[in-house]
Amino acid sequence: MPEKNPITYPESVQASVASYITDLFVQESDIQQQVRQSVIDNEMPQIDLRPQEGQFLMWMARSIGARRILEVGTLAGYSALWLAQALPEDGELITLEADSKHARIAGENFQKAGVHDRVKIMIGNAHETLKTLSGEFDVMFIDAEKDGYLAYLEWGLDHVRPGGLIAGHNALRHGQVADPENPDGFVRAMQAFNQHVASEPRLLATMYPGGDGLVMGLVRR
Ligand code: SAH
Ligand code: MG
Repeated sequence: MPEKNPITYPESVQASVASYITDLFVQESDIQQQVRQSVIDNEMPQIDLRPQEGQFLMWMARSIGARRILEVGTLAGYSALWLAQALPEDGELITLEADSKHARIAGENFQKAGVHDRVKIMIGNAHETLKTLSGEFDVMFIDAEKDGYLAYLEWGLDHVRPGGLIAGHNALRHGQVADPENPDGFVRAMQAFNQHVASEPRLLATMYPGGDGLVMGLVRR
């Protein structure tokens, strides 16, 4: 059987396309560059969003008119600064972080960025913190431990409004999710999560394949 419309451009072209898109559409603020540097300077894992992923999430959140956003996994606050850009003046972003050092550095970064009035960090295991939250959210962005994603999604399906967005990062795990035999636990967890989002009847699902991939579902009305 011949392949249908195979995408055959090589790795080097894909890398140049990613740079092309980023250069054209993504302007990081000075503070965002400083936040990425703070991840390195504080010897935190360099797993913050790529700029083009952050800009895309911001664009999505803006397009649905988000006023209240929840993030799971703050790190130094890089993705939160993108999401905060989607909010109106009186909007709110709540970001959940288990690691107190990460939360402290993110708090400093939110102060520097001048968004501390709109962005609130809640420290602790997000599975516990979620139980204390009330009200509806327009966007939920999941970017913490991968074997927690399904539980976060279940919470999101009950708390994100119809027409709202639930997104999960690292949907592609460096492309390894495409290998059904891959035994790695992270890859397995993301495959299960992607499958679940794809088949969840309450979501209209798709994937943004840039960076490490964002799997996304719009909550059906
Ligand atoms: N969204 C961030 C990156 C998050 S990295 C950005 O793009 O800038 C993942 C973060 O999730 C880490 O800071 C880690 O400490 C946190 N984390 C892991 N498990 C968690 C849990 N159960 N509850 C809350 N935070 C958790
Ligand atoms: Mg991630």
